[in-house]
Parts: sequence; structure tokens; C-alpha cells
Amino acid sequence: MDKFREECGVFGIFGHSEAANLTYLGLYALQHRGQEAVGIATSDGGRLQVHKALGHVADAFDESTIKRLGGMSAVGHVRYSTAGDSGLKNAQPILIDCAHGEIAICHNGNLVNAQELREWLVREGSIFQTTSDTEVLLHLYARSKAGSPEQAIIESVSQAQGAFSLVLLTRDRLIAVRDPHGFRPLTLGRLGDAFIVCSETCALDLIDAEWLRDVEPGEVLIIGPEGMKSIRPFAPARHAHCIFEHVYFARPDSFVFETSVNETRTEFGRQLARESPVEADVVVPIPDSGVCAATGFAEQAGLPLRMGLIRNHYVGRTFIEPHQAIRHFGVRVKLNPVRSILEGRRVVLVDDSIVRGTTSKKIVRMVRAAGAREVHMRISCPPTISPCFYGVDTPQRAELIREFIGADSVSYLSLEGLLQSVGPRRSSYCTSCYTGRYPVAVPQNQAAYLQLALKLAQ
Ligand code: SF4
Repeated sequence: MDKFREECGVFGIFGHSEAANLTYLGLYALQHRGQEAVGIATSDGGRLQVHKALGHVADAFDESTIKRLGGMSAVGHVRYSTAGDSGLKNAQPILIDCAHGEIAICHNGNLVNAQELREWLVREGSIFQTTSDTEVLLHLYARSKAGSPEQAIIESVSQAQGAFSLVLLTRDRLIAVRDPHGFRPLTLGRLGDAFIVCSETCALDLIDAEWLRDVEPGEVLIIGPEGMKSIRPFAPARHAHCIFEHVYFARPDSFVFETSVNETRTEFGRQLARESPVEADVVVPIPDSGVCAATGFAEQAGLPLRMGLIRNHYVGRTFIEPHQAIRHFGVRVKLNPVRSILEGRRVVLVDDSIVRGTTSKKIVRMVRAAGAREVHMRISCPPTISPCFYGVDTPQRAELIREFIGADSVSYLSLEGLLQSVGPRRSSYCTSCYTGRYPVAVPQNQAAYLQLALKLAQ
């Protein structure tokens, strides 16, 4: 669908006899954050082992693979490639052996100075195995003369700028690090005596773990046989949590940045109805992305909420397209309109974002073809501006989008409305997607500048 792609998901557990299995389940819950590659590394207290594969969690692991990954601690990663290409060599965890011993790293985020660091490291003689920016951290780690693996991690990560939520596994420690801005989420949980660190709380729910708190921006957690230690080795920085986690990236059943995604997203919908009311008969979410906001919109507008579009959940794999032309086939294979709900009605379609507008255009046409009298599009975030969507040239003004997608009206939630909806901590969010102003300077002279902005997001 016409959306931002999700970013990576990380999971780490220390002190559980089923560490690999629980990591597998945690990654299963985080699958929405990346579907290109998956991997798990475990430690039995002596050696680390890793298994990585392209594709989905359920396809990459079977019982025998999980059994082979023995040990009481594990880290795992689901990847959507935001930096480096998407082949298996860039899948994580990346496992290396060096003077500090073996270490496996899982990273959610992108380093804006990775290229600079990489060029310097290559000049110094480093040989890179991957094109991923995460490997830069491992080279810095391996070169560190610090007296312990923990100190070497801090020394290497201190040289990185940008977004990093990391889980690292050594022979006898699980270490979590979150950048001082706190761009990407990272949260802490507990299952019996075991500690868990992961991207979203939905991963804790699946394994019946208790949520304790977020790993704070700039915090390093060192979890070992002696318990958990928290240190704050970095200079404090302005918090810049990615607001897009609340708009779209995270699952609605998660808490991110210690706030319920469902509640925030529903409030986006309420606020949208306050800002852009419309005479209509029914509110219809574009599933699944528009459901929370549509619920809030309908509640605030006093209109019925009906599932006028049904999503086929089994799409994704290849299918054989017919030679015969079928109207709206491309979108209909994913969404089918419910004529009994749409026919003769003035319909408000609610979605969480429009990136290029091409899918929205097809949906509007399909809803009209199913008999809707009017189609009004309401979007529960402000229009994104170019640096955050791969340089695709998107019409920014609602009127251009309205004409392009062929709706009777189009309204976006305002930036002020978005910030009002996230509550009292509004100044701790990054909204650069909507403003083009970045909390961490990105190198403007690079050809990849537009992409870097998005990488920073992820
Ligand atoms: S630029 Fe957008 S996607 Fe990136 S961190 Fe900021 S809000 Fe999130």
C-alpha cells in the first residue's frame, strides 16, 4: 500500500531458559516493523550463536533451529532496510569476535554520520562485511582500548550521531542503549527473573511479561548475572521522539514513549473531526491503518462508524493476475468495498497518512463505483514534506491532493492539532516529517540527503 515503510524492531532477553523461543515470539509480535530479514543470536555463557534469514519470522525459524540456539540470553531483530541494501549479509544481529570477546548487535535507527565514520575507518584499514551503518559501531568497538566490553560499547556509541536504539549481547551480558534524543522507542520488561528490552510493549504482551518502563533517552542498561545497572554516559540532548510512531509505525496495542498508541491515534481522529467537520452519513476507516483515527472521528462527529472496506489479510504473497481486465483490481485484491454500507451515502474515509496519493485515488474511485454519493477524505496527520518520503514529489496542499485523488473534500490534521493530541510532552517529539527541520544536522552535501532524512527517522 501507499505508505511509509516501517523501520526495524529489536528484542533482547537475559536470564531465561527459553531465551531463543521467547525472542522468536517477541519478533513475531514486532513483525510489522520489518519484513525483509530476521535473526536471533543467543549466548550459552561461553559462545554466541546466530541464525538469520530473509523473510518473515514464522518462515525463518522452525523448532529445530530454535533448539540449536541454546542459552539463557538472546537478542533478535526484524529488519526493514533503511540503510544499506536488503540482502542477507545486512540482516541482524551482526555477530563479531574481537579483543573484547564476541558481541552481537541489533539496531533500530540510522546514524547520520555513518558514512563519515566508515570512510575514516576504511582509511584506517577496516574491512567491512556489510553495507549497513550498524557495522560502523562494531568496528569502533573492536578498535576501542577501553578496559571492559561495556566501556568499549559506550566509547564507540559516543561517536555516533543520529538515531539508535540498540540491544547488544556479549557472552554474559545484555546491554541496551538509547540515543540521547530518544528518536526510536525502546522499552524494558520483566518475566519472572528475566529482563527484556524491546521496541514495543506488544512484544511483552505476547510472552506475558510485565512492562516496567522505557529505557530512557541517553540511558545505557547493563544486565548481567549480578542484576541490572543503569548509567547515563552521554551529554543530555533535547528529546525528539518520532511522532510517526504514534501516527503510523507502532502497533495500536503498544505503548510507545510511555503513551498508548491507540489512545493517541484515536485522539488524532477526534481532533480531526473538530478541525474539519463534514456533513456526512457514515465514517469508514481505511483498514487497518485508519481504524483508530476513524473511531475517534466518528465519536466526535456523532456519526456511525461502519466497516465499508474489508481487507484481505492473506495478500502479500504472489498471485496470478488474470489477462482479463478487472476494474480496480490492484487495490481490490487488498480491499473490497461493502456496497450495502456505501451505496447512496455521503462517506467520510479516514486514513492515517497519504504518501503519494496513488492508492487513495484508487480507493476513492472504488468507493464511488460502489455507489457512494459523496466521498470525503480525512487524514489524521499533517501533510508530509519531501525529505521524509524517499524524495517522492508529493503534492503537499490539500487542494492538489483532493484533485489528484478525486475526493469531494480532503482535510489533514493540523500540526498544532497533532501536537495537542500527544498530550503534555508535546515538545519532546520530532515532527521533522512535517516541518523539514531536523533536530540532528544531516549532511546537506550528500547526494543521499533526502534519504538520510528518512533514515534518521528509522
Ligand atoms: S523526521 Fe519524521 S519519521 Fe523521522 S524521526 Fe522525525 S517524525 Fe519521525
